Amino acid sequence: MKIKILGSGQEVGRSAILLESEKSVMMDFGVKIEPEPPQYPHAEKVDAAVISHAHLDHIGALPLLCKRSKPHIFMNDITLELGVMLLKDSMKVGHIEGYDTPFGNKDMRKAIKNTKIVTQRDKFKVGDTTFSLWPSGHIPGSSAILAEGRKRIFYTSDIQTTDSRLLKKCQLPQNVDTLVIESTYGMRNRLPREQQEQLLIESVEEALSNDEVVLMPVFAVGRAQEVMMMLEKYASKIVMDGMARLASDIIADYSYYLREPGRYKAMLKKIKFARTDEDRKKAVEKNSIIISSAGMLGGGPAVSYLRHIRGRENSKVIFSGFLVEDTPGRGLIETKIFKTAEEEFNVKCDLYQLELSGHADRKGLMEIVKRTNPKQVICVHGDRCKDFAKDIEEHFGVQAFAPKNGEVIKI
Ligand SMILES: [Zn+2]
Repeated sequence: MKIKILGSGQEVGRSAILLESEKSVMMDFGVKIEPEPPQYPHAEKVDAAVISHAHLDHIGALPLLCKRSKPHIFMNDITLELGVMLLKDSMKVGHIEGYDTPFGNKDMRKAIKNTKIVTQRDKFKVGDTTFSLWPSGHIPGSSAILAEGRKRIFYTSDIQTTDSRLLKKCQLPQNVDTLVIESTYGMRNRLPREQQEQLLIESVEEALSNDEVVLMPVFAVGRAQEVMMMLEKYASKIVMDGMARLASDIIADYSYYLREPGRYKAMLKKIKFARTDEDRKKAVEKNSIIISSAGMLGGGPAVSYLRHIRGRENSKVIFSGFLVEDTPGRGLIETKIFKTAEEEFNVKCDLYQLELSGHADRKGLMEIVKRTNPKQVICVHGDRCKDFAKDIEEHFGVQAFAPKNGEVIKI
């Protein structure tokens, strides 16, 4: 058996891990969206594809794969529905910004038609290899992938080893041969979620007591809902907008992936959704918490809210997590200037960055290596994959690699 890394080799984004046995199976096929222009993995001809979750860096290039071949595609129900929403939006946004996607509606329809819905922990076979999806605690429906053939391979995709407000932590198999592990926080630990939640609440409390506005730019899928659940006691003050609003509705339809479905649905009934310009005007006038995409201010209603509140010193803009370099969000937190190709303005608001994440930190990732007890580790999806691989070798005495895109590893 062989593993070929087509994307996410020593980089964050465009995950594409090709597993070659009797048949060739692509695990994830995503796009690297930030910074622009988007970058796609090389679309090889494959027999099948298994998709871990509905983030564009894992599913955003899937129709491109269907342009070259006719793979059988496997994913769960919520991943398909959220994924289609994100893919359609990426085609629209790409067109507006002059980066047309290298696939069209026809390829997209092909991808949907070829998809077979599978349930978490159910087994399905491709050639001589049996696959199963394992809950990974990252976003609703997210899964790690276990491939069992001549060897046992566990691909974590994006994974979280602790419970969040929204989801239960990941489930892990024992004794695998090869572990393909994400490395986003391979070299870094974070404050526990409870402490970050406390910081968020203090910050929100301060703004609201001054009758000011809190703007939280968030990722539409996963983070928006997690932040909403953290701010449960302020439900009546929350206004949700952008794709986060659509994603929240879809997640409610598949609430069996959540830790507390009833509590989630009750929250959706208590908060407000901004649908019109009038709703948005009201939201920035009085003390409210605006939760809106896009997370790194690359577009979406979050940017128009920022334009409105930019002169208010006591209003807050709270980023919930990591900001990729060369994005407007990262620029803003570093310089207090919002800058894109189209516009540039100063922001007087109080800016704040939390470190919430759907990813395990270094401690969690090390725990995954320990629990799965692999003979070989392949580190992907990180800025410091090489350092992380070296540490794993030293710590566990197993072979660990940090391949570049295009590299093949024998397993
Ligand atoms: Zn993800």
